[in-house]
This record gives sequence, C-alpha cells and structure tokens, in this order.
Amino acid sequence: MIRFDLTGQVAVVTGGSSGIGLATAELFLQAGASVAICGRDAARLERAERGLRDGFPAAQLLVARCDVLDAIDVSAFASAVQARFGRTDMLVNNAGQGRISTFADTSDEAWRDELELKYFSIIRPTRAFLPMLRAAASGNASIVCVNSLLALQPELHMVATSSARAGVLSLIKSLASELAPERIRVNSILIGIVESGQWRRRHEADEQAQAAGQSWDDWARELARKKNIPLGRFGRPEEAAQALFYLATALSSYTTGSHIDVSGGVARHV
Ligand code: NDP
Repeated sequence: MIRFDLTGQVAVVTGGSSGIGLATAELFLQAGASVAICGRDAARLERAERGLRDGFPAAQLLVARCDVLDAIDVSAFASAVQARFGRTDMLVNNAGQGRISTFADTSDEAWRDELELKYFSIIRPTRAFLPMLRAAASGNASIVCVNSLLALQPELHMVATSSARAGVLSLIKSLASELAPERIRVNSILIGIVESGQWRRRHEADEQAQAAGQSWDDWARELARKKNIPLGRFGRPEEAAQALFYLATALSSYTTGSHIDVSGGVARHV
C-alpha cells in the first residue's frame, strides 16, 4: 500500500455522509488530512460522524448540515471550514443522485430539477470554496467531481441525468482551463454502478424483488449480469474513492481537465 501523507491539508467532501463521499472522507482521514463533510439529512450525518470518529479518534473533522443547492447553506459551510481549518486544499463535489425517467415521462419541472442538481452541485461549492483554494499554500489545490459514464454513454431510462452529465463534463473542462493559470486542477471520475445508498434504496423500492424475498446480494448480482458489466459486479464505494483520492492529491499533480473511468469496463468507446 502506498502511504501518502496529507497532514496539514484540508479536504472538503460534499455528500460525505454516505456511499462514495463517506469512503472518500475515510481515505483522506487515513492519510492525515483534516476533513469537512456535508449532507442534508441530520440522522445520516450523525451516523457518518460517529463511524468516522470511531475509526479515527484523533480526526480533525467538521460535519455540517448543508444542501449544496442552497446558496446560503453552501456559503455557511465554506465559512465554517474557514473558521475551523483556515484553508481548503481539495474540494470533492460528490453530492447528488440520479433520476430514472425516459423522455416520455420527464416533465419540464423534472428536467429543471435534474439540470439544477447536476450543475449547481458543482457551481455553488466551487464558487464558495474558490477563495480558499486560490490561497492554498500546499501547492496542491484541486477540485474533483463525481460524474457518470452516462456523460459519454447515455441511457434511455436516465435521459435527463445522461444529458446533464454530458453538460457537466464540458463544464469541468472549462473550469480546468480557466483555473489552470491559478494552479488549481479540476478533474472528474466517470462511474458506472457503485453500490451505495441510492442503489440500496432502489432494491428496497423494487416491489418484485421484495415480494420474491430477493436479497441485496442476489439483486445486485442479477443486475450486474443484465447490464453486461465486464468485471461482473457493481463497484464498491472505496473503489470510486481511490480514484477521487488520486485526482484530488498531488499523486496526479500533472493532470487537469481529465477524467478516470471507474465503470468495471462498461465503456464501449475506445
Ligand atoms: P449515496 O446516496 O450513498 O450518497 C449521496 C450523498 O450525497 C449522501 O451523503 C447524501 O446525503 C448527499 N446529498 C445528496 N443530495 C445532496 C444535496 N442536495 N446537498 C448535500 N448533500 C446531498 O449515493 P452515492 O455515493 O452513489 O452518490 C455519490 C455521487 O455519485 C452522486 O452524485 C451520484 O449521483 C453519483 N453517481 C453514483 C452512481 C452509483 O452507481 N452509485 C452512478 C453515477 C453517479 P443526504 O441525502 O442526507 O443529503
């Protein structure tokens, strides 16, 4: 295992109370960074905080309730990080979820909601944390966004999410170009299916699976087979987190405006 020391650096992870965000927060803490996470649901945040403090008793950890779509919440979150840690070196824009709908059943309002979520979950935190990233003394200021392979390979049953993901890929490229002269790197990961809170909820909401008493493991295995995932399984949150960690830290110091595919081989393009 490569040991990478981030003592003195500060990592901010939006949507850090579950799934990929929580696994990413753990990696940063393991490496000695101070970490701030946010989410909307207080009980979920409390559970995450308890787990992180149990695992890392000496952790420099800030846990805040913040909806990344709420400008006031986001600016209060950035102020809390500034007050507690005085800096931000790495921002991971992870908060969000996907929307399952075809063109036929996506209303105007649903389109607006989805576009707002995908764009503003990046725009708001980026804007709020930029002053601290600009001032980061570590020489490793970076932003990493969790994006989806849908950006390059749309799915009919996730039409709004796919379309928004493609736009966000362009936004990330533009941000990378605009911020490169300031030595702030901007990258993303393109994930396929990663087992996490949202997939657990989909299993629970699958009436057929529940009626048949199909366990989570069996349900996930069957879906991976149906979706022809070459590696034969869903990804694990820590696998997405490792790619985020690489792109956030100086391990990828000469990489910007780029992305890593973490999809188990689902991408069809060369
Ligand atoms: P989880 O549901 O496990 O985690 C999502 C996290 O984001 C939670 O902490 C949630 O907390 C938080 N969150 C959601 N909306 C907001 C919001 N508006 N403001 C602040 N926090 C928010 O799912 P994942 O770990 O899978 O999701 C992480 C990211 O990966 C998401 O952006 C998702 O769209 C993306 N993704 C995931 C895929 C997968 O297969 N898992 C596939 C493609 C993309 P709370 O709800 O309490 O706010």
